[in-house]
Amino acid sequence: MRRMNTGLIKLLLAAGFLLAAPVQASAAKIVVDAGHGGSDPGAVGVNGLYEKNVNISVARKLRDLLTEQGYDVTLTRDSDDYISLSDRVAMTNKEKPDLFVSVHANSHTNANASGSLVLYYDKDFPQASYPSSEEMAALTPQSKRLASLVQQYMVAKTGFADNGLVPSAAYVIRMGQVPSILVETAFLSNASDAARLADDSVRQKLADGIAKGVAAYLPLTLPGGFSDIAGHWARDAIVRLKEKGLVEGDGGAYRPDKPMTRAEWLTIADRLFSFGDKLKTPSGTTGQTTVTGQVYQDLPKSHWAYGTFQNAIRLGYISGYEDGSLRPDQPVTRSEVAVLLERMTDGSAQGSWTKTADFADVPATYWAAGSIYRLKQKGIMNGVTDKTFAPAKNMTRAEMAAMVDRLLAQNDKAGRAVQTDGSGKPAAVPNTGKPANR
Ligand SMILES: [Zn+2]
Repeated sequence: MRRMNTGLIKLLLAAGFLLAAPVQASAAKIVVDAGHGGSDPGAVGVNGLYEKNVNISVARKLRDLLTEQGYDVTLTRDSDDYISLSDRVAMTNKEKPDLFVSVHANSHTNANASGSLVLYYDKDFPQASYPSSEEMAALTPQSKRLASLVQQYMVAKTGFADNGLVPSAAYVIRMGQVPSILVETAFLSNASDAARLADDSVRQKLADGIAKGVAAYLPLTLPGGFSDIAGHWARDAIVRLKEKGLVEGDGGAYRPDKPMTRAEWLTIADRLFSFGDKLKTPSGTTGQTTVTGQVYQDLPKSHWAYGTFQNAIRLGYISGYEDGSLRPDQPVTRSEVAVLLERMTDGSAQGSWTKTADFADVPATYWAAGSIYRLKQKGIMNGVTDKTFAPAKNMTRAEMAAMVDRLLAQNDKAGRAVQTDGSGKPAAVPNTGKPANR
């Protein structure tokens, strides 16, 4: 990004953007579930191996590895006992962990089936007879991300065939309240897999791979240094913005779910689009940072974002409300962000548009409909679901981070900096399947 300097950091510090309030840091807690047990052996291998024994062996190794790294780990069973599926979920809900990993081994009537896969509950593949908990449906992106990381590391570590992820309505990953996966390590019905599952060093590799996936999903220390974004859906975007110097923390919190104020949003936008540069006249004289005329009672010169607001007003990005206020410290809504972003990138927010999504709450007559559907088409803003955009909802700091991250990614892809002169538009890229903007 161009125009990156410590000025922003100071400004953000002055703004209280970097929240200094202490945040309760809780140890990362994980529940590991060894499938089957006691009277329930699970699958029985072609070599006579019982699934329940493979499962608890890998689960214990996984617990030991994660505990060594500083995670707080609980096993649903640490003995050869039968535990019902509902008891496993009840135990997990009581523990309130950050995530849940169930360890199993697979079996298939086709003896050629081999390799690893990871199951997770996906709200886009519901099974009518097996409804999930409300929490689990909402946690689809988190569970999927965890599943993907675990599968990736497990396969890399063991060399088992990569069968990818499978949306599933298995009870333990459908009824809980935290991101949950069920790992199918390999096939006991396959001679080669079964022989490897009997090997203690292979079980160790499985545990190691799963642990690495868990740690990638829920790192104990983050590059961003924020204490409150582990496991958050916008974590990667926030970390990338941190690395670019767009947001800062001093061992503190990011507060991803806090609404972003109009002043905070304009400050970020100023960093991206360099209001001061845009105000430069062709002859090279710099535009003034104050405007004469309209005075906003709620924007005194002492306000930390005074200069940014004045520049934004001069550029025509914002104007006051009908009552003569500017409301710098009021949360900014998703619609306002859409319209402002378009003004800053395209110079206007008035182009033609078509309904590029099925947002029931953004009818054609809605004042910001054009901006919302154009930005949706460009892949810069998403709905909170496929069917709703929540236009009047306050934009959270996490949503802002995700949106700016997409904007920067598109500009990186286009091999140029964010347009600062209104002469072009960010290039559209295909939907990457990243979490919706919420
Ligand atoms: Zn099983």
